[in-house]
Amino acid sequence: MTCPICKRPTVARFRPFCSGRCADVDLGKWLGGEYAVPSRDPEDMEEAAEAAAQEREGSIAKPR
Ligand SMILES: [Zn+2]
Repeated sequence: MTCPICKRPTVARFRPFCSGRCADVDLGKWLGGEYAVPSRDPEDMEEAAEAAAQEREGSIAKPR
């Protein structure tokens, strides 16, 4: 028998997988369809954070 994830020989302790890692991968597939990919682009997050920071700075720096 081989691991359904990576096709290496099954280890009895983790049957039908070869390791706990592959068992986790399989569990993730069950829970999230395919492997759960972060939906947000990191650059978008960075841009949003920057915009928020600039907005804050602007309001503080504005002299009255
Ligand atoms: Zn495996």
